[in-house]
Amino acid sequence: MNIVVCIKQTPDSAAKIAVDGGQVTWGDAPLVVNPWDEFAVEEALRTKEKHGGKVTAVCMGVETAREALKTALAMGCDEAILVSDPALKGCDSLGTARVLAGAIRKAGEVDAVFFGRQAIDSDTGLTAGQVARLLGWPALTYVAAIAEWKPAEKAVSVQRMTDEGRQVVESSLPAVISVVKEINEPRYPSFMGIRKASKTTIPVWSLADIGVAADQVGEKGARVGWAEMYAPPARKVVCEMIKGETPEETAAALVDRLIAEKVI
Ligand SMILES: Cc1cc2nc3c(=O)[nH]c(=O)nc-3n(C[C@H](O)[C@H](O)[C@H](O)COP(=O)(O)OP(=O)(O)OC[C@H]3O[C@@H](n4cnc5c(N)ncnc54)[C@H](O)[C@@H]3O)c2cc1C
Repeated sequence: MNIVVCIKQTPDSAAKIAVDGGQVTWGDAPLVVNPWDEFAVEEALRTKEKHGGKVTAVCMGVETAREALKTALAMGCDEAILVSDPALKGCDSLGTARVLAGAIRKAGEVDAVFFGRQAIDSDTGLTAGQVARLLGWPALTYVAAIAEWKPAEKAVSVQRMTDEGRQVVESSLPAVISVVKEINEPRYPSFMGIRKASKTTIPVWSLADIGVAADQVGEKGARVGWAEMYAPPARKVVCEMIKGETPEETAAALVDRLIAEKVI
C-alpha cells in the first residue's frame, strides 16, 4: 500500500505559551512532532508492516520542520517531503489543506492518508476533513481502530470514537483517516532509524512543484483571519487556611466552610 502521513511541527506540549504584542509565542521551547501525529505515523507504519508498500511523511512548514520529518523517518517512514514556500506565511486551515492535497496528488497512487486528530498549537481539527473534501475522498475521522484493510477490494473498515461509543464504518479507498490516541502506542525512534534519518535526503517541494497557485494560500488565500489574540485575565484567588485543634475539628471546619460557599 502507498501510504502518506501528514505531520505538523508544533511546540512541545510543556511549552509555556504567552501572547506578546498580539502574537503567540512559546519562547525557545523545543519544537516536536505534533503529539497526535505520532499515533498517525505509528498506524501508517503498522499498516505497511502488515500489507507491504511504503510510508511517506509530509509536512508543510519552514526549514525547522525538517527535524519533525527526521523523527518520522527515524520511527520507520520510508520517505519524507517538506513543502515550503515563502507564499505560505499566514495560511489558514483551507490554505494548509490545499497545500497538503497538492502534495498528496503529486505523491502518486496513494491508498490512504493518515492525520492526527488535531494540532496542539492551532487546535482547529479541520485539516483532515478539508483535505478529504479537496481530494474528493471519504473522511474517516476520530478513528480508534482499523478493523480490517481490504487492499484487493480497495476498501477499509474502521472503528470511530464517538461520545456515545464506537461506530464501525466501511469505506472505499483511497481515504483520509484521522486518528485518536486510543488507536495504538507510538514507538520510539530506533538507533538505526536515527542514523538512517540523518542520511536520508528530504526533498523540498514548492507551490509550483505541487501545482498550487500562490493566491490560494498564505495571507492572500486565507478565508479565516485571527483578528485578535489575548491571554485570558488572571483569576483572583483567595487562600484561606482552615485550622482546628484536632484533625476531626479541622475536617468539620472545612466541611462547614464548603457548605457555606455552596461547594457541597
Ligand atoms: C504565524 C501563524 C499565523 C497564523 N495565522 C492564521 C490565521 O490568520 N488564520 C487562521 O485560520 N489560522 C492561522 N494560523 C493557523 C494555521 O493556519 C494552522 O496551523 C492551520 O490552519 C492548520 O490547522 P491546525 O494547526 O489547527 O491543524 P489541525 O486541523 O488541528 O490538524 C489536524 C492534523 O492535520 C495535519 N496537519 C496540520 N497542519 C499540518 C502541516 N502544516 N503539515 C502537515 N500536516 C499538518 C496533522 O496531521 C494534524 O494532526 C496561523 C499559524 C501560524 C503559525
